[in-house]
Amino acid sequence: MSAAQAKETMGFQTETKQLLHLMVHSLYSNKEIFLRELISNSSDAADKLRFSVLSQPDLYENDSELKIWITFDKDAGTLTIKDNGIGMSRDEVIKHLGTIAKSGTADFLKTLTGDKAKDSKLIGQFGVGFYSSFIVADRVVVRTRKAGLAADQAVRWSSTGEGEFDIENISKEQRGTEIELHLKEEDKDLLNDWQLRHIISKYSDHITLPVVMFNDEQEEETVNRATALWTLPKQDISEEQYNELYKHIAHDAENPLAWSHNKVEGKLEYTTLLYIPARAPFDLWSTTKQHGLKLYVQRVFIMDDSEQFIPHYLRFVRGIIDSNDLPLNVSREILQNNKTIDTMRSAVIKRILSTLEDLAKDEDKYGKFWNEFGQVLKEGPAEDFANKEQIAKLLRFASTHNDTDTQNVTLEQYVSRMPEGQDKIYYVAADSFTAAQHSPHLEIFRKKGVEVLLLSDRIDEWLMAHLTEFDGKKFQSVSKGGLELGDLDDKQESEKLEEATKDKQSVLDQIKTILSDKIKEVRFTRRLTSSPACIVADQDDMSPQMQRIMRAAGQNVPENKPILELNPEHMMVQKLEQEQDEQRFADWTWILFDQAVLAEGGQLDDPASFVTRFNKLLIELSN
Ligand code: ADP
Ligand code: MG
Repeated sequence: MSAAQAKETMGFQTETKQLLHLMVHSLYSNKEIFLRELISNSSDAADKLRFSVLSQPDLYENDSELKIWITFDKDAGTLTIKDNGIGMSRDEVIKHLGTIAKSGTADFLKTLTGDKAKDSKLIGQFGVGFYSSFIVADRVVVRTRKAGLAADQAVRWSSTGEGEFDIENISKEQRGTEIELHLKEEDKDLLNDWQLRHIISKYSDHITLPVVMFNDEQEEETVNRATALWTLPKQDISEEQYNELYKHIAHDAENPLAWSHNKVEGKLEYTTLLYIPARAPFDLWSTTKQHGLKLYVQRVFIMDDSEQFIPHYLRFVRGIIDSNDLPLNVSREILQNNKTIDTMRSAVIKRILSTLEDLAKDEDKYGKFWNEFGQVLKEGPAEDFANKEQIAKLLRFASTHNDTDTQNVTLEQYVSRMPEGQDKIYYVAADSFTAAQHSPHLEIFRKKGVEVLLLSDRIDEWLMAHLTEFDGKKFQSVSKGGLELGDLDDKQESEKLEEATKDKQSVLDQIKTILSDKIKEVRFTRRLTSSPACIVADQDDMSPQMQRIMRAAGQNVPENKPILELNPEHMMVQKLEQEQDEQRFADWTWILFDQAVLAEGGQLDDPASFVTRFNKLLIELSN
């Protein structure tokens, strides 16, 4: 025997140990899911074998009827799940059953709360897979032989799930994997024909290959439906079956929010089954995470995560695409720059958007969707110009209409509430909802009863840079350019403002000189009703929020000086106008400017001087 074949005892990876412990304790209430996980793995192994056979027909070894067998032995207290799928080599066994290869496991473990109910949901979402065996078993023995390897190249893996596993080479005639569970005393009630059949048809009906049990005459009986569910007519598929298929392909424990199942016939023939999950996976924002659909060609599994069918902004969608037109030997390279794929991709996008439109009819469900994936969908207008209008209808915003941070206002609702004379969609963007809600720029709009969208997600400025208009109405930031009220404007008031400006031109000039390093211009405004001053960006300049985002992303952003606007009706401004002392005039000017920057959510270049000036004036006032 060579060293590699000798029996070895190895330790689980630290994360694996932690996860095992947690899982066994938190998933016990739903223990039967272990069978779903193991059958799901066998099904994946069959898919992988079918795919490998496309290029290496020998791998079938005259055993091409792929199946999953479930057997049990009451006396020995064992339950066995066996398949003739692809199997595993020694290295693969060590890698797949000894470590958790998934990215972000450590991060995931940090998100656990210690609250059992919550954690079991999280764990389900993470997809516990093989390790769920240890919920019911105190010892697990795996015997496996990889397709194409000799009979004596098989491997036996065993573990009690407590930190270590043994591994040794054995001889195994049949290709594939056999998982023998030595059940815990309290779980031996599972060794019951009727109950096992019940669990299998509940969780594994959608598995495309036969899951087989033996009857009293020792004949094989297929327990599940064993057809590719997506090839059946919709009316023959129950909600539960759709849900279970989703869990299998998405590795998610929770039911999806919605799905769309379509068979396309004509020049191209393919079937799509697209799911909208109810919850974002913890690695939705991870850049290494693969997204996309499970691709089948004529019901043969080809690959996971075919991202060519799904644009980035819809990356939360899970599902299947089964094509009759693509060649069976299709590769990721072929998928790129392929006309057929482009056509299918456009159709998939349309389906998803219309599924979301339907989902939006149920405000509750759509609210859930929006909380999980709204920020991702907001990437849409920048990425998918062709579907911009349709995506815009799916967006939800917070606004001054409800004045809460719940994003549930549609652009259609906004437009329908626009008073006569309003021709723009107004929004304010800030770093936080509270900053947006209390922005001084809103004062005149609140006074006039004009609704303003309150934007505070990081992505919002990016979104607005690409959205530009909806229903023929342009978007207008209330903190950019002059006060654009269109026909809502009051002529008398604007004339009054012009006069004030003429009267006080010398004061404005003086302020401009003091702040010349900081501002482009200073002017009076009617934007404000209760604040003395605010900062606005020039119409074509980047907003201060956008500048901050770009700088944080390491971009070189040109310094755009803002415009300082003053409220001529405010006592502080009037006091400034009357100030004769040059030093005090400068102090007041700086304080007004710094305040305006702060109110915007900005940072002061020299906060200490602000504090000193402010305190000086406070002391003067109280004397
Ligand atoms: P996942 O299925 O999400 O990858 P699992 O914990 O269920 O995670 O399985 C881990 C890995 O072990 C699988 O990805 C696969 O490589 C391997 N594996 C598990 N069961 C089998 C099996 N029956 N046949 C072949 N490989 C298997
Ligand atoms: Mg699995």
